Amino acid sequence: MQRLRDAILDSGGKAVHADRAVDAWMLGRPVLEAFSEPRYALPRHARPALEAALAELGALARVVEEHPAEDGGRKLLLELGDGSRVETVLLPRDGLCVSTQVGCRVGCQFCGTGTLGLVRNLTTEELLAQVRLGRERQKVRRVVFMGMGEPAHNIESVLEAVATLHRDGRIGREQLVFSTVGHPRVFARLEECTPPPALALSLHSLDRDRRRVLLPRAPDVEPRELLAEAVAYATRNRHPLQVQWTLIAGRTDGLEEAEELASLVRGTRTVVNYIPVNAVDGLAFQRPSGEHIHALVARVQDLGVLTKVRWSAAQDATGGCGQLVARPKDRG
Ligand code: SF4
Repeated sequence: MQRLRDAILDSGGKAVHADRAVDAWMLGRPVLEAFSEPRYALPRHARPALEAALAELGALARVVEEHPAEDGGRKLLLELGDGSRVETVLLPRDGLCVSTQVGCRVGCQFCGTGTLGLVRNLTTEELLAQVRLGRERQKVRRVVFMGMGEPAHNIESVLEAVATLHRDGRIGREQLVFSTVGHPRVFARLEECTPPPALALSLHSLDRDRRRVLLPRAPDVEPRELLAEAVAYATRNRHPLQVQWTLIAGRTDGLEEAEELASLVRGTRTVVNYIPVNAVDGLAFQRPSGEHIHALVARVQDLGVLTKVRWSAAQDATGGCGQLVARPKDRG
């Protein structure tokens, strides 16, 4: 968190003061209280500089609505400094789902964010501000870049946030999850990050034509090759790979395709996350029946692949996958 560090060091503070301020801010704690003990007292000129920096950071994002969900999740509607709105979702079990863009260019058919188009990328500080706001409300030990936006389209800011959250925010390397629709060049860039984040690949189909329809502006690459690249990245970096697969009745819920997916990842540390499609206003996709989902999961697991069904967190607060559109409640 360079802004805080610079404010303190440029106004006569020492490295120990800068470290304390950064630590408190990154952990969601009151920053000025970190200097209440006499032995850590700030030099006279450093305090106004620190207060000014904190005010600037506080103006990056503010919570305008909070929607608790029955599963313990909580969706936060945030207003950014320029009036743009994004959503951040507190997940059960100490997780936080962060938005990386206002809107998204990929336009996935099953996703509310995709209907917005891309407005702009978030800055690194805006990504970190989401984590601070989350940590002001609950413990956060896992950050997934799976909210609004495609992280690969804002990769420099996202990777700087990954490195900062690991170095200054005490979040473990496997607990920082970069989610992407995938592009072969992305994997090399992720590997240059310290640490390389864990990976979630939004695959949804092995059929190139079908995937092109579902994810109209994702890179048009052969899904099997994309999966192989993702598996290789995760293996090299000793991470588990998450394969995200939205289940849409009649389109992405075929047993044969599930068996092929299992055959492609068997023997690797891959988890298949089936996400029954969430209700999104104006989009008419159906979920498969509960029995069918159960049969799919059982088959893939029989083939030796760890499989989970992600009934998205905070769904009743429309904070589930594909439901983030940053619209205030009273505007439905
Ligand atoms: S699912 Fe992700 S990549 Fe696709 S439109 Fe929504 S936010 Fe963008």
